[in-house]
Amino acid sequence: MTQTPEEVRAFLDGVTAWCRTGSQAHLLRAFRSRFSGVPHDVAAAYAVVARRSGDLLEAIGAGRLALSPDDRDAVLAFSKTVRSLRDLAEREESDDALAQRIAAAFAVTEARERPAAASAAEPFALAEALAPEPASGARGWKQHFSASALNTYAECPRKWYYRYLCAAIEDRSGGAATYGTAFHLALEDFHGEFPSPRAENADEMREKIPIYVNTAFEKYANLFDNRLEMELQKRRARRTAQRYVDWLVAEATRAPFTVIGRELEARLEMEGFAFVGFIDRLDRDDATGATSVVDYKTGIIAESAEEYRSDVLSFKDFQLPFYYWARTAEGDRVTRLALLPLKDALLDVRPVSLEVVAIPSVAPARPARRDASTTGVITIGELERARARMIEICRELASGNLTAFEVATDPSACRYCVYLNACAGRPNPEVEKFGR
Ligand code: SF4
Repeated sequence: MTQTPEEVRAFLDGVTAWCRTGSQAHLLRAFRSRFSGVPHDVAAAYAVVARRSGDLLEAIGAGRLALSPDDRDAVLAFSKTVRSLRDLAEREESDDALAQRIAAAFAVTEARERPAAASAAEPFALAEALAPEPASGARGWKQHFSASALNTYAECPRKWYYRYLCAAIEDRSGGAATYGTAFHLALEDFHGEFPSPRAENADEMREKIPIYVNTAFEKYANLFDNRLEMELQKRRARRTAQRYVDWLVAEATRAPFTVIGRELEARLEMEGFAFVGFIDRLDRDDATGATSVVDYKTGIIAESAEEYRSDVLSFKDFQLPFYYWARTAEGDRVTRLALLPLKDALLDVRPVSLEVVAIPSVAPARPARRDASTTGVITIGELERARARMIEICRELASGNLTAFEVATDPSACRYCVYLNACAGRPNPEVEKFGR
């Protein structure tokens, strides 16, 4: 494995910073480095879990992810090594000495400095160009799949290639992402206390929900860029949470329900392809026993049910179809799929929800994006088509025959893409279309 001095330095600095300060952000960065000894996708999955729980080593100790024996050994070895290094750090005064111990423990003992540049006066010889490698297909994907990975592929195959196949390092921390992680945790804990929201609990829920929000945001405080940003995001979340309670009360009055799952692991095997994911909330209707899958959304989402259905039908979004099939396989009668917007503190919480119906004629033949209603229907046949497309994509990605990964056709996909600077073939932004 070729390693650059910068990569080694970043890894050593990350572990050193965690040993000295306990910073989860530094530990996660080191964990996702290739020097950690943990496969990239396993590290990425644990990083998601750790962002929710706030403590990577605790999540590893609790065995929060089901892993193959080799992957589990790699994760446990990392945990054991960093724990022993932290113990050493308490006795070790100098960072350099500690970095040497870290390098030895993870066998990253290559030179950490670049060789001195040749002096300008010295002549240098040009090397012979290497013969190009024979072209071959990209390595087939052999790990489990997730709906979000398939969403990424649907949005931009090149982005999937960077993120999953190249395992390009991303720094996903920051205000927006951490707001979502903390808010998810707050609601997970809140519904632990209030699994059956009722109008008679409204005052108690209004009183308690800010406490859950505060606790969750404090837990992730070190992932925000600074304290001020954390306080502003926390305030936004507290106001949004009150609107969430308004909606809970109205919904429970309309049709009483019980929250039967929170951050529920969903596993499904489809024609030999293993999928894994986490369902934010699973509700059971108290009167009918029917199940609803609820996905909290703290970013931009479809504004109407037909827009969301159109995304499912055009194979841009596989998340709720995946949850539908995962819970159906568990024996649930899933009748509703809902996206719950939790982004804007100034707007009422109005879920975008699709009722699952069996009879195709109940649903409009063609999605009408002009329909602004937040409730709509989707047929089981349409969910089956999404399932078939998921399997098709899995086959493509696992085949090892793909030789090219197309860039996005829609420039809006590039707006927040972390690979923007690396991606030479990206489409031109809309605003520049006539400017070049
Ligand atoms: S910059 Fe655009 S085209 Fe390139 S990987 Fe990102 S989303 Fe895809």
